[in-house]
Amino acid sequence: MSNMSRTAGRHFLQIPGPTNVPDRILRAIDRPTIDHRGPDFGALGRRLFAGLKPVFKCSGPVIVYPASGTGAWEAALVNTLSPGDRVLMSETGHFATLWRGLAEKLGLKPDFLPGDWRHGADAEAIAARLGEDKAHEIRAVCVVHNETSTGCTSDIAAVRKAIDEAGHPALLMVDTISSLASIDYRHDEWGVDVTVAGSQKGLMLPPGLSFNAVSEKALDAHRTAGLPRAYWDWTAMLKANETGYFPHTPATNLLYGLAEAIDMLQEEGLDRVFARHDRHAEATRRAVGAWGLEVLCLDPDRYSSSLTAVLMPEGESADRFRRIVLDAFDMSLGSGLGKLADRVFRIGHLGDFNDLSLAGTLAGVEMGLALAGVPHEKGGTQAAMDYLAEEARAAVKETA
Ligand SMILES: *Cc1c(COP(=O)(O)O)cnc(C)c1O
Repeated sequence: MSNMSRTAGRHFLQIPGPTNVPDRILRAIDRPTIDHRGPDFGALGRRLFAGLKPVFKCSGPVIVYPASGTGAWEAALVNTLSPGDRVLMSETGHFATLWRGLAEKLGLKPDFLPGDWRHGADAEAIAARLGEDKAHEIRAVCVVHNETSTGCTSDIAAVRKAIDEAGHPALLMVDTISSLASIDYRHDEWGVDVTVAGSQKGLMLPPGLSFNAVSEKALDAHRTAGLPRAYWDWTAMLKANETGYFPHTPATNLLYGLAEAIDMLQEEGLDRVFARHDRHAEATRRAVGAWGLEVLCLDPDRYSSSLTAVLMPEGESADRFRRIVLDAFDMSLGSGLGKLADRVFRIGHLGDFNDLSLAGTLAGVEMGLALAGVPHEKGGTQAAMDYLAEEARAAVKETA
């Protein structure tokens, strides 16, 4: 990186992942790499495999891959399905579309329930499609819990109910890459068979780790699944994991960071982590409303607490606006993805983030709107601050 012009202070990485990595995690990673077959590693591995379960709210195994989230998508499919299997997927946005594309490349046959990229997955449509499938050819239902391209969540409990009411045996697979450790998620309670997650969003780590949390039913499907698998094979992983080890060289230093992240989540308490994300999302929406701009998600029950996608006024370029914010204020905002390119910008408010980081983020957006000449009302940041102050006052009262 060039040092020709130094930028003072921390960069504001307000894309919805990777998120700002806290100093504690950076320090944890900055330690010597150890022998991954030695005794110290086994202790670390055992601690991690146990410590991940409360984060996923699962009792079965959590498999850890040195891979981005896309790898864990592939792992979920190749470990449980066979060539030509039908899978039911919901078009919630760009990430759901990418997962479908991956399924097709693997030789699966996705049914893609259409969506408008402004709502979560439609549980009724899923129920209807499963109801038509009397021969039970659909082997899995795949849903993105938090669609990072739109800022809409999907109601996973409702999807579970739809599958149960249809009396359908399909597996339920859920992508929680941008919701785990930010938005309440319950692998066991919601009867999820494979939960897919990644390190670089709510878990506050750098990119490079991804996860499959696996149910008994998924393990049963694994035994007879016919898609070719080698690197992603759960059997080899689970066997080595029993004693805290991996069948290949793990991402040792990222695992140091993961242990630290689990400690941090435990110290804060998951419920408080979720409440913090809810508060920052609400404050952000109040700012967007006061600016006179539109939140992309149209269903208030399904607003994302980890990011907010904001529609640009007609004729305004979101990418030009983001570039102005980056140049002037050293802040990265998320771009519009797929068919939303240049139409929306996304404010990430997940991970290691507090009220003042949000106030700074929103101030940067508001100043950027003025600099870019985007039509808007002033006062969004103030509206968010008023709300945050109210919430802080209520919290002080509670503890008094
Ligand atoms: C980020 C993200 C992905 C992609 O993960 P990579 O780590 O980029 O492979 C998939 N799904 C969702 C919902 C995401 O937010």
